[in-house]
Amino acid sequence: MSKESLLQELITLSHSLGEPARDYVIIGEGNTSARIDDAAFWIKASGAYLQTIGASGFVEVDQARVMQLLDKANDDVTDDEVTRALAAARVDQTCTARPSVETVLHAVLYRLTDARFIGHTHPPAAVAVLSSARAEDLTRQVMPDGIVVCGAHTIFVPYVDPGVPLAREVRERVNHFIETYHEMPRTLWLQNHGIFALGSSTQQVEHITAMAVKHARIVGAALAWGEPHWLSEHDIARIDTRPDELLRRAKFK
Ligand SMILES: [Zn+2]
Repeated sequence: MSKESLLQELITLSHSLGEPARDYVIIGEGNTSARIDDAAFWIKASGAYLQTIGASGFVEVDQARVMQLLDKANDDVTDDEVTRALAAARVDQTCTARPSVETVLHAVLYRLTDARFIGHTHPPAAVAVLSSARAEDLTRQVMPDGIVVCGAHTIFVPYVDPGVPLAREVRERVNHFIETYHEMPRTLWLQNHGIFALGSSTQQVEHITAMAVKHARIVGAALAWGEPHWLSEHDIARIDTRPDELLRRAKFK
């Protein structure tokens, strides 16, 4: 796929995630990106609105240059330095758009996983669950469709300052997830913040986002009746490996 048609797909995904009726984001919230190759990716520019974004709302960035920010000691990275480093990571230096502050997090996800598209949103139903004192608990799988679409397990990320500290935390958790489950993560829940959907296609990003929001709504509603009935690890593993569910999962990609 050419870089231009990839960008077109990314624009379509962004419009879909930014559709007001879906209630995933408001104003300039959220961001999307697409892997061009192992060296570069498109990322939404800071301040662009997903609902109306066009080609000029995306910036092509050099992955290795963004990742250099993570090699520095924590205290060494100032906000100004992050801004300068992200500007320097633009492949086209005549481009004036600024890459989103969450670019460094996207770079980590492209480095460690096989994602081709990433969608990050702040859906109120999900942020409500994520703002609860029981957030980590409430992101556990509770329904078979959630397992099929979002993965048997998802990654919960405690609240950390956005930018480099958050990207470091995500790097640690993604590495731990892959070591533990020997599979690629699909869904990340960021405490007090929002969700990240990692897909091999734009459709998969949309499916994961929609299912994560459904999960949050179901859990919120179930809590009104008392403690939700959580699926056991045995139940989760069974759904995760059933031949009919594997077929369904293949269709969802
Ligand atoms: Zn965000």
